[in-house]
Amino acid sequence: MELTTLINIVYILSAITFILGFKLMSSPVSAKRGNIISAVGMGAAIVVTLMDTHVERFEFILGGMVIGTAIGLLFAFRTPMTGMPQMVGLLNGFGGLASLLVAWAEFHAHPEGQGVFGGTVLWLTAIIGSITFSGSLIAWAKLEEKFISGKPIMYTGQQFVTGAVLFGILATGVLFALDTVAPEAYRYFALFTVLAFIIGILLVIPIGGADMPVVICLLNSYSGMAACASGFIVQNNLLIVAGALVGASGIILTLIMCKAMNRSVANVFLGGFGTPVPGAAAQVVGEMKEVKIDRAYLMLEAASKVVIVPGYGMAVSQAQHAVRELTEALEKNGAEVSFAIHPVAGRMPGHMNVLLAEANISYDAMVEMDAINPTMDTVDVCMVIGANDVVNPAAQEDKTSPLWGMPIIEASRARTVIVMKRGKGKGFAGVENLLFFRNNCRMLYGDAKGSLQTLVSEFKGGS
Ligand code: NDP
Repeated sequence: MELTTLINIVYILSAITFILGFKLMSSPVSAKRGNIISAVGMGAAIVVTLMDTHVERFEFILGGMVIGTAIGLLFAFRTPMTGMPQMVGLLNGFGGLASLLVAWAEFHAHPEGQGVFGGTVLWLTAIIGSITFSGSLIAWAKLEEKFISGKPIMYTGQQFVTGAVLFGILATGVLFALDTVAPEAYRYFALFTVLAFIIGILLVIPIGGADMPVVICLLNSYSGMAACASGFIVQNNLLIVAGALVGASGIILTLIMCKAMNRSVANVFLGGFGTPVPGAAAQVVGEMKEVKIDRAYLMLEAASKVVIVPGYGMAVSQAQHAVRELTEALEKNGAEVSFAIHPVAGRMPGHMNVLLAEANISYDAMVEMDAINPTMDTVDVCMVIGANDVVNPAAQEDKTSPLWGMPIIEASRARTVIVMKRGKGKGFAGVENLLFFRNNCRMLYGDAKGSLQTLVSEFKGGS
């Protein structure tokens, strides 16, 4: 069998493993298997690509693989679960940068020019790669809140500036595609690359912290599109397929997240959303009422229907195992317990499902927001464990809130709400939570894991 035939057969099989992997990743039960199957497919694709006769020197490739693997492993082991969005953001950015470098190398290797089609593909790869890189760095910095604030950054004439830069990218792209012969074409290449870097920054800075999950998904999709375009440049079918799969799945996830957060898709693409609507802010009425652990125990002990709303604080506290122990104690006491899962609770899509599954909590007990909300009136005790924004009624009542329009888990409709958090800290969006001031709400202060463990021992002592 000819080598090219073998390579193409392995590429087709690898593409099948990617599609199968995506299918399996759609459920947390089979996601791990999906990941392994896709990784094996990718491994096989890398091996046959290295066998290609076009690859003449291995030292740079192997050097890059060794250094890249070492850095990747170091990051993967050192990054806590709570830092995942930042890490995903950076990985998207590096994917974009890699595509940009491929475009540059290919352009540099053909000083005689590449024709209109070749020039257009080079332009597309370079600009999507650059936008992904700079946009992802800004998203990372906003999530880390180290170099810039997580709040939307707006300025006068913003849309005009964005429009002018976009026009510049388009105009230089047309000039470049019409004349890709070096050295003149170098200045166009440099110009649209720099402008694309700038547009990546301009598109992400106006986006508010609470809407970052959507941006990360969108940038993930961009990194796939850049890889797909670079596949056309190096004429590698598998890169085209893999890039298209990432691009398409990223767009689908972006649409799902937009729906979950009630955000307009057009605004995500154009930037500048998550910005409060001017108007009268809803008044915070009442005060937060504290409850001590012995009293909270009595409330739970008397409850026959309990809903647990986990959030980012549960991840910080690593309280998932203590949550399972409390669930078992409540069930032993005759209560029906379910978990209300908000699509953006935590810091990455599926964050809560993964943590609860790690503690062997059945997927059947995890109920999605749309399904649990209509039942909230019948709930005796709603336990909010380290969640804040995802239960904040300001999303429905305060047009000036950055959360305005985001669907929430309607915890306030339960007969009693117990909120477990360390103190009066705000949620990711940085706003006061109207739920905490409601008459039926009690605040149980302390680290979630510690409070849960004490509640479990109260149940054990009481039985
Ligand atoms: P929030 O970030 O809104 O609130 C978490 C709460 O947990 C805080 O108010 C904090 O209060 C409390 N907390 C922190 N540590 C502990 C601890 N050890 N024990 C007990 N409580 C603790 O979380 P939500 O899950 O409600 O909302 C997620 C937010 O993150 C949304 O705004 C979403 O848009 C955003 N986001 C989501 C992403 C995703 O993909 N899921 C990605 C990026 C952002 P205190 O300090 O008083 O303890």
